[in-house]
Amino acid sequence: MARRTKIVATLGPACENSDVLTRMLRAGADVLRLNYSHGRSEDQARRAETARAVAKALGLDIAILADLQGPKIRIESFANGPVELVEGQAFALDTAMGANAGDQHAVGCAYENLPRDVKPGDVLLLNDGAIALRVEKTTGTRVETTVLVGGPLSNRKGINKQGGGLSAAALTDKDREDLRHACALGVDFIAVSFPRTAQDLEEARRLMQAAGGKAALIAKIERAEALPNLEAIIAASDAVMVARGDLGVEIGDAELPGWQKRIIALAREMNRMVITATQMMESMIVNPLPTRAEVSDVANAVMDGTDAVMLSAETATGRWPVKVVEAMARVCVAAERAPTPERERRLIEKHFQRVDEAVAMATAYTARNMHAEAIVALTDSGHTALLMSRAQTGIPIYALTPYEATRRKMALCRGVYPMSFKPRSAETQAQEAIELLRDRQVVKTGDRILLTKGDATGPGGTNTMKIITVG
Ligand code: PGA
Ligand code: MN
Repeated sequence: MARRTKIVATLGPACENSDVLTRMLRAGADVLRLNYSHGRSEDQARRAETARAVAKALGLDIAILADLQGPKIRIESFANGPVELVEGQAFALDTAMGANAGDQHAVGCAYENLPRDVKPGDVLLLNDGAIALRVEKTTGTRVETTVLVGGPLSNRKGINKQGGGLSAAALTDKDREDLRHACALGVDFIAVSFPRTAQDLEEARRLMQAAGGKAALIAKIERAEALPNLEAIIAASDAVMVARGDLGVEIGDAELPGWQKRIIALAREMNRMVITATQMMESMIVNPLPTRAEVSDVANAVMDGTDAVMLSAETATGRWPVKVVEAMARVCVAAERAPTPERERRLIEKHFQRVDEAVAMATAYTARNMHAEAIVALTDSGHTALLMSRAQTGIPIYALTPYEATRRKMALCRGVYPMSFKPRSAETQAQEAIELLRDRQVVKTGDRILLTKGDATGPGGTNTMKIITVG
């Protein structure tokens, strides 16, 4: 059976060449991520171009996701290479210090508000939590700390505050520039890093529209302050990412699994797509096989209902960019087969505000209870297919659309398979759709199919469900 969960793979030096990329797409990568935290914009442009050429040669609808760096606060650099911090020693972060003046006692930080965002007793986590500093005292430009957890510290490592609260705005000048760049590339998704509120997403959307972009916006949930505003942030976005790297540093790793489940459930309930990201198969950066713990982690995200699982350094800089996609695909398929606890009861009590939502849910419900072989959505925006995929019936949803941009967005949506479809007439379109599915050998004579369509053209127009037996 076909895999339903989608795979997001990050592009980078390890998968630059079109041969590796071809094998990654064959292995099952559905969405390719450009990470604007690394590399120059020329690199992103070149990668996007190669990715599109490869996808085209394979006849696949692959989406491209531009991930903005966001206001990641970092230390500056050291004068003589990495230093070794020792537990109990004093160490200062100083916004007035030169960019390359760091030493054993202090290092610079370009974020000028740092001394005002922290207070004595706060814990600062450097390098994804590998180093912990307790704030003792702040002055105009300086934060004096005691080292709680020591170790090596090198140039430009990230700084998080335990519990959250470093208040840098979500879109930096670099992000604004990168956002315009991504729009010019015509990417399908743009991920906004470190949003605190819905306003951060709204601002990104305004900037994107001003730049002529048509991408769907992904809210990365990766700071503690986002959690109380989760509903509003999800409402302001088109999709969500459980960004476990930074989120885990801010709220503590032990809190992560619970939040992962909550974020996935809420995103699905609010009819949004959701990606589970970071360290999913981390050991495969060097090893050709994942650990049992990683296999379980990917499988559990699938069972939680994630639309997609993501690979970061595993494909961008790792040694096994093809094998890791193969491993992930294989784990997803098996996890989808495993029985999962009842989770659809909520749908039965749901109030439908829109006609397309009512038809989509009626279709999913009927398809499941009639044991239909396939669901077919004749769709412009892909919205009906997305709505039906929220019901998790396990029945494949074929999103048939003439629009390439819609097909590419559907590459992220669990259980949805986009296909190019340009019917000759409204009267014959249902029959033509069945013929297409037959040609693709996904349905056969005697199969029962549910088809949705709209009388009017344009997004949100779905108002009809049809039950067909393939003749
Ligand atoms: P990043 O985001 O890889 O851009 O940091 C994901 C995460 O924080 O998990
Ligand atoms: Mn992050």
